[in-house]
Amino acid sequence: MNDPLYEPLIYELGAPGRTGVTMPTAPFPATPLPAGLLRDELNLPEVSEADVVRHYTRLSRQNFGVDTTMYPLGSCTMKYNPRLNEAMAHLPGFLEPHPLQDAATVQGSLEMLFNLQTWLSELNGFTATSLQPAAGAQGEFTGILMVRAYHRSRGDTARDTILLPDSAHGTNPATSSMAGFRVVELPTDGRGNVEMDALKANLGPHVAAMMITIPNTLGLFEEQILEVARLVHECGGLMYADGANMNALMGIVKLAELGFDVMHYNLHKTFSTPHGGGGPGAGPVAAGEALAPFLPGPIVALDETTSPPSYVYAMPAQSIGRLKAFHGNFGILVRAYAYLRAHGPAELRAVSENAVLNANYLRVKIGQAYEIPYDRICMHEFVAEGKLDEEGIRALDISKRLIDYGFHPPSNYFPLGTPHTTLKVHEALMVEPTETESLQTLDRYAEAMIAIRQEAREEPELLRGAPHNAPVGRVDEVYAAKKLVLCRAIPEIA
Ligand SMILES: *Cc1c(COP(=O)(O)O)cnc(C)c1O
Repeated sequence: MNDPLYEPLIYELGAPGRTGVTMPTAPFPATPLPAGLLRDELNLPEVSEADVVRHYTRLSRQNFGVDTTMYPLGSCTMKYNPRLNEAMAHLPGFLEPHPLQDAATVQGSLEMLFNLQTWLSELNGFTATSLQPAAGAQGEFTGILMVRAYHRSRGDTARDTILLPDSAHGTNPATSSMAGFRVVELPTDGRGNVEMDALKANLGPHVAAMMITIPNTLGLFEEQILEVARLVHECGGLMYADGANMNALMGIVKLAELGFDVMHYNLHKTFSTPHGGGGPGAGPVAAGEALAPFLPGPIVALDETTSPPSYVYAMPAQSIGRLKAFHGNFGILVRAYAYLRAHGPAELRAVSENAVLNANYLRVKIGQAYEIPYDRICMHEFVAEGKLDEEGIRALDISKRLIDYGFHPPSNYFPLGTPHTTLKVHEALMVEPTETESLQTLDRYAEAMIAIRQEAREEPELLRGAPHNAPVGRVDEVYAAKKLVLCRAIPEIA
């Protein structure tokens, strides 16, 4: 503490009785908390408002975020989150109602939910949408439970298998086995599509559904999707689309028209809700005629028998039930609604066109210095090889060095090329720039990547020791994950 350069933690500041707030006197008598709920020994600092503001502002500056830097974390769609969404989500009419309030008293909120359901159905040509699931993975789980309920309702209980390409997002196999299915992984061909012979060899009356991440985790569009859907349907299976990465497809293609029966969205990705750090999110599920009756509820319906028509909660006829308390993560739904209204159909299409353009621009530029294992027109993201054998450099070294250049790293080691999979990428650098980055920023990013490739040849130690100018250097990631320490030791306050 005698070191003048030492920045004290908030736990080391403060003085007894110092405070940042003045609580009003309660207009009712104090009620003591039930015994046992209060801890006697709780060393909380007593600090001023300024100390608190500085504490959190300093912490925020030690991290990367979409508001400070380009954040091309593949598959995560870390686009800019318009402040308009925040303003809308904070309107008192949206913020203050209680979820148990009578539907008649929250007609505006229900109208918003109803419109959002309608637009999300329309965007991919589906019949109905449920806004309940709280994240992409929960949306997948919902969709696969609906698949199971559909087959059971027809007395078809032999279908115990979900087919998955090995280019699927990791949540897809996890979802399938959590829902009680057997997972059969299909290999990928040299162009990054599912291998058709392997698909044909695995079809039959045991197939409940095929689950496809589209675009897949190589950032590629499945070129034979119409034929894949035809074959799966022919054997009585259903088609599930992992639509978490809609940022490539909005207004360009409708998944229902490609043959999909059910899909989920990630509103916190494509529809610009701040995410990362674990939530909250929203993973609505949209379904066609066959699966719509199985959607989780309640959903919002329009009752036209009343005058004027009113919005009501309704349970789909053969609903799998509830997936989430109340009405999903309502604040996220408001943000997505605001995003959709602010853009409108033509601009949504432009969002996807620009996301694809930006990714392809970077693919070609970065491809001058790095191997691109599947070098064809990509969708919203692409994968570069991060394992440089000659220099003994790994994807992690490149990513950590990018931090020194002021950029958030791309996704690493995902998708995974292992002897287990057929993917011809060893250590993926999965880059997703999104549409909200300018040409100048894309150029700066590409130049940093190219400079790092040069450093790998001339000064590889620079990469292995990176990051050099971050508040925290290279950590042992396995140790960090197993022995999580969320703050420095809290010293006793004298
Ligand atoms: C992000 C993502 C998911 C999982 O979504 P969560 O909201 O993190 O649960 C699933 N599939 C794909 C393709 C994704 O990109």
